[in-house]
This record gives sequence, structure tokens and C-alpha cells, in this order.
Amino acid sequence: MKATLLALAAAVGLAATGAQAQGNYPQRPITMIVPFAAGGPTDVIARIVGENMSRTLGQQIVVENVAGAGGTTGITRAAGAQPDGYTIMMGHMGTHGAAPALYPNLKYDPTKDFAPIGLAAGTPILIVAKKDFPANDLKGFVEYMKKNGDKVNMAHAGVGSVSHMTGIYLSSVLAAKPTMVAYRGTGPALNDLMANTVDYMTDQIVNVAPQIQGGNIKAFAIATPQRSPALPNVPTTKEAGLDGYEVSAWNAIFAPKGTAPDIVKKLNDALLKALDDETTKKRLLDLGAVLPTASERSPEALQKLVDSEVARWTPVLKAAGATAE
Ligand code: ASP
Repeated sequence: MKATLLALAAAVGLAATGAQAQGNYPQRPITMIVPFAAGGPTDVIARIVGENMSRTLGQQIVVENVAGAGGTTGITRAAGAQPDGYTIMMGHMGTHGAAPALYPNLKYDPTKDFAPIGLAAGTPILIVAKKDFPANDLKGFVEYMKKNGDKVNMAHAGVGSVSHMTGIYLSSVLAAKPTMVAYRGTGPALNDLMANTVDYMTDQIVNVAPQIQGGNIKAFAIATPQRSPALPNVPTTKEAGLDGYEVSAWNAIFAPKGTAPDIVKKLNDALLKALDDETTKKRLLDLGAVLPTASERSPEALQKLVDSEVARWTPVLKAAGATAE
């Protein structure tokens, strides 16, 4: 009896220590894996929200760029990390929406292998081109693509990335077959676009807005129903005469599956605080990001988004015949 009580006391003691350790989370820096090169949209969003979250959590969120295979290399690594809250990741509509359709041997299931933390930003897609592109508006671009679609180069961030999936979607609308040029992220792709060495791409607003504002690249249209307050002079695809091309992407934070609910809550609380912080909010809005609404901010809402995105994109991409393998 005495021994049982002692064992029980020890077990209770152990459980209490475990709970306490989680209650004290985080006690050391947190790694946020960004599955693309530094300087691109996923990286920029991770650094903006990560900086504010670090202050709330009292520990640094350190961004680690693990690029390759359209973001699936970094997400595979992050999915396999200890679910202790010290490795999280910034995923997006490609890694957690398109990838299953494009990689038959994908090592993770976006709908099952993660503990969603929360949506960080909505990112409208823009059709942008190098300054020397021989068209000045969307109409001219469409005409040029219809005649020369097999002679142009389209930049993208790897099979299954947002720029890739939205690019092949545009190609299917235009019946064009551009040469696809893969980068480790659209940060480096944008550099080549500015250097006039690739012709065009479709990418997330937070990457391209500053270079459009600075006149370093051409913006033909934004693929959302409304114009962006960050780029009021850029017409929507519909206004500019391309009705069939509307698409917007998103970035969101995930932890590996099995991460304790109180850690998930701490991370979600810190993310929401970042999104409500005036300075952080302004930085995101200035880049054209769309902030998640109240009903879009929970881990449950993110799980639903992932489920619906995988269901939405799988048939579209399979029909487009796109595959990585
Ligand atoms: N926006 C890129 C994509 O096409 C990736 C990046 O964040 O660099 O998915």
C-alpha cells in the first residue's frame, strides 16, 4: 500500500513537472522553418510576424530557410521535427494545398500531419513582368502570350509553389506553353525579373508590391475581385479583360502533429497579438497582405482551410496534367 502510494505520488509529481515545463514554454529560441529562399514572400511574412511573436513569447523566433522542391523539402523536415513547440513552420497554399496533387510520393499529408497554429496573411496574386516585356498592359500581355507563349520564360519557385501553381493556371487560361524557370523562392526570381533575365511570373503581392511601386517591374493585373489598397493603380484581371483568372494565396503557421494544445494556444495567441499590433499590421498592409478576419484566426479555421484547399486544387492541378515526378 505504502509503495503504491509512493509510486502514485511519484507519478503525480512527474506529471506536474511535465505540465509545468509546458506551462513555462518557451524556454529557448524557436526555429521557424521557411521552405523558400530568404527575401521572398514566405520569408518576409515569417520575419514580420515572427519578430512581434518573439517579443510576446519572450524567446527569439529564428527563421531557418530550407528551400527546395517547391517548399516540400522544408515542410517535410519540419513535419518530422519533435512536436515540442521549438520547431514550427511557415507554410502556404502550395505546400499545404497544391503539393499532394503534384508529388505522388509526398512524405507528409497537409490535412493530417500538422498542428495548425493560424493563418498569417492572405496574399493576392499579381501578373508581373520584366520592365522590357513587349507589352504595357494586360491586353497586350495576353495578345503577346497567344502569339509567342512558347517563346517566353516564366519564373517560379519550384513545382507546387504558389508561383508555379498560379502560373500553370494562367498558362491553361491563355493556352500558352512558356518555358518554366525554377528558383528556390520568388525572392531570387524577382531579382532576375528586375535584371530582365526572365520574362514574367505570377506571385504573391507582398513580394512584388515594393518593386511595382518603385517602377522596377511591370504589373499587368491583380487576380482578385477588388484592387489592392497597396497598389491602387493596378487593375483587376476582370477590369483588364481577363475574366477567367482569379486567384489569391495565403501563408500560415503550422507545428508538427502532436504538439501539445497549450503550446498551440500560446503560439496562436502570440500570432493574433502580432496581427493586432499597429506596427506589424502596417508593415503587412503596406505590402498588400490581407489580414485574417476574426473567424479565420483559430487553428480550427486553418485546419478547415487546408482541407478545403487540398480538395479544391487536387482536381484542378491533376486536370492541368502537372506533376513533379
Ligand atoms: N511565393 C513563393 C511561391 O511561389 C515562394 C516564396 O515565398 O519565395 O510559392
